[in-house]
Amino acid sequence: MRAPLPPGSTIGIFGGGQLGRMLAMSALQLGYRCIGYAPAGDNVAAEACAGFFEHHWNDREAVSAFAARCDVVTWEFENVPVAAVEAIPADRLPTSARALEVAQDRLSEKRFVEDLGGRAAPHLRIDSEEDFARALESIGTPGILKTAREGYDGKGQWRVRDRHEAQGIRFPGRRCIYERLVGFESEFSVILVRAADGEIRFWDSTANTHEGGMLVQSVLPAGEWVEAQVDEARALAGKVADALSYVGVLTLEFFATGDGPVFNEMAPRVHNSGHWTIEGAATSQFENHIRAICGLPLGETATRFATIDMRNIVGEQALGAHRILAEEGEPHLHLYGKREAREGRKMGHVTRVGARLG
Ligand code: AMP
Repeated sequence: MRAPLPPGSTIGIFGGGQLGRMLAMSALQLGYRCIGYAPAGDNVAAEACAGFFEHHWNDREAVSAFAARCDVVTWEFENVPVAAVEAIPADRLPTSARALEVAQDRLSEKRFVEDLGGRAAPHLRIDSEEDFARALESIGTPGILKTAREGYDGKGQWRVRDRHEAQGIRFPGRRCIYERLVGFESEFSVILVRAADGEIRFWDSTANTHEGGMLVQSVLPAGEWVEAQVDEARALAGKVADALSYVGVLTLEFFATGDGPVFNEMAPRVHNSGHWTIEGAATSQFENHIRAICGLPLGETATRFATIDMRNIVGEQALGAHRILAEEGEPHLHLYGKREAREGRKMGHVTRVGARLG
């Protein structure tokens, strides 16, 4: 077991987005400082970091210089190239790059979870037009064609309602997955934190609503479908975390269906559907991730309010978002400081809570 990192230590974060920003804010509160690393861009995490390396992922010298300044290294973005993470000395990496390697590819994450007893939607690997035609034949429609790597928030996805629509969709020229559309009652995620000694804690699972493939809202209570299936999903998520010797926050997304939970995808990091934990849980996902990777005791994950409603603030909605502060019920507004309010871009979120529990 690693000794806990003393106050004043430095945490390196690969990735420069809002998740890194919120991780750094929690780290600051616990007396740590953060240094970020990401290619040049709107790296809003930099504002919460003591230093920031803006370099290509494959700049070996820059990665080494970054590693030399950090006592521990983590990531907020699952598409950090595995080679960059593998360049970090193992004694500074609480979780190995294997977790990223598995989660970066939709086929490998489904295989990994199926090998541990989970169930995913029927799917096939697509490397060509012919594979796509065969998959339409054997899996049928409706379905979704997704790029195997680097899709997010509904990008790199094509819905196929029927054969007719399929004729208008071309294989995009890089490895894809075609999967059957799942008829679900509800969507939910299991968010857990695992310490280096193997202790696991779960937050309550919200019911998540997506539009155009992007999360728009997470609510508690999550409803009977989620409540009936969350234990099975947690058991699976716990096995995934153990199998990866994972340290920190890990998220698995599920569909609650008439036949039980169907695994969709995993994120080896803090997750948008866990933003409510900042005000809504005894310890937030961000703080517990920092605690886990620094070897500190994990915090309680219990929900503190009878109802929770987290909504994303997307694109130009952010421009008038301060108006939310005048609402009744003390809404908790978070804006990420992004410079450009592009359409479909996550700019912030607001969490509204109901009566306090206990
Ligand atoms: P993903 O990028 O795989 O998380 O997909 C984004 C969202 O699209 C999911 O949260 C669902 O709302 C929807 N979706 C993706 N795959 C499926 C599927 N096989 N069946 C039904 N809905 C899906």
